[in-house]
Amino acid sequence: MNKNYQTIIIGAGASGLMFASLLQAKSNTLIIDSNKNIGAKIAISGGGKCNLTNEIVSSDNYLGIEWFVQSVLSRFDEQQVLEWFAGRGLELIVRKDGQYFCENSANDIIDIFKREVVDTEILLDTKVIDVHKENGLFAIKSNKGMLYSESLVVASGGLSFPRLGASSIGLDIAKSFGHTTTVTAPALVGFTLQSEQLFFKELSGSSVFVSVSVDDKVHSGDMLFAHRGISGPAILNASLYWEKGNIEIDFLPNFSLDSIKGSKKQLSTLLPLPKKVAKAFLDYLGVTDRAAEKVSTEELGKLKVLQNYSFAPAGTFGYSKAEVTRGGVVADEVDPYNMMSLKEANLYFIGEVLDVTGELGGYNFQWAFSSAFACANSFGDDDA
Ligand SMILES: Cc1cc2nc3c(=O)[nH]c(=O)nc-3n(C[C@H](O)[C@H](O)[C@H](O)COP(=O)(O)OP(=O)(O)OC[C@H]3O[C@@H](n4cnc5c(N)ncnc54)[C@H](O)[C@@H]3O)c2cc1C
Repeated sequence: MNKNYQTIIIGAGASGLMFASLLQAKSNTLIIDSNKNIGAKIAISGGGKCNLTNEIVSSDNYLGIEWFVQSVLSRFDEQQVLEWFAGRGLELIVRKDGQYFCENSANDIIDIFKREVVDTEILLDTKVIDVHKENGLFAIKSNKGMLYSESLVVASGGLSFPRLGASSIGLDIAKSFGHTTTVTAPALVGFTLQSEQLFFKELSGSSVFVSVSVDDKVHSGDMLFAHRGISGPAILNASLYWEKGNIEIDFLPNFSLDSIKGSKKQLSTLLPLPKKVAKAFLDYLGVTDRAAEKVSTEELGKLKVLQNYSFAPAGTFGYSKAEVTRGGVVADEVDPYNMMSLKEANLYFIGEVLDVTGELGGYNFQWAFSSAFACANSFGDDDA
């Protein structure tokens, strides 16, 4: 194999497929992916139903350079994404917090992409190992041989879920062409715990509604006690902003502890928590579970810990479980107009490989689609 293309796209994920779908000049374009199928992450996302965007999307939902994120999102916003898919027959439903999911299956999205890229050559089961420049062309070394292209679109995603093809190739390419990359970490992922939280293990399977504070950001939602630590939407969102140090969990948001004073009911009944969880925390705090009227003011005071439980997670569940990767190619070294590198002409970065990471709720696919649109719509445009 030794072939020249006009454009090569590394990655048949959300951003690479949307880019290939929107590209006007499809001839002489190649998509490469190390997986055996296109859209591997799309297929398993949102529990198989893919949360593809949200009713309300703004730069506030992202960790990244605000003006850059806003500028790219505004080119192909949530309404345009919804219209694009609806126009191709995708049936969607809105669930809580404005999250749009496929009515039937995430595979419906993949089927749409298959139809859209039918004229584009796709090379699957092929891993890109290195990219450099040779005689003015991008020379792409893969495990199947060399390929050459005039333009290169890096849509290779982040480091999360290596079993679905994730690799550091996008970051490696960026660095080799003089880009800066920020430190990467697993994000939208559960936390592992310190020995002091060992009692959480017994609660595995229980779910509670909490507010988690990290770095001045508060995330409300369900928290799941898992075998390895804690997970669930509130924790996943908190993990996006956590680097190290303490997080604070309010296990009783909007609840007044004063309201239980003098009650004849048992503490574990009065606390708005699953009984098992309430009892475990009472044990942990050294407060005997009994009628609230019999509990001293000092003991009741101990329960305040439940509203500001502060601890430092030991770490996260890691890339194998993380939905996304925080960090990546520094965004303002890329032109938001067409996503072209400001360091190397005809080199483009789209999707999660950039240092832009969304919260839980469809924001990461929205980013993949918006950045792909910006790139495709102004592709090869010198007037940027
Ligand atoms: C379990 C899970 C559930 C998720 N659910 C949601 C959700 O419901 N909503 C949401 O908004 N986001 C969700 N996400 C995040 C979302 O999937 C990603 O943010 C999005 O897919 C990023 O798109 P991308 O095109 O940048 O990268 P990807 O979709 O990751 O695509 C990159 C592609 O590049 C390929 N590749 C990488 N390295 C190489 C190489 N060296 N050679 C060849 N090919 C390579 C990979 O195989 C991959 O197919 C979820 C993620 C996971 C892991």
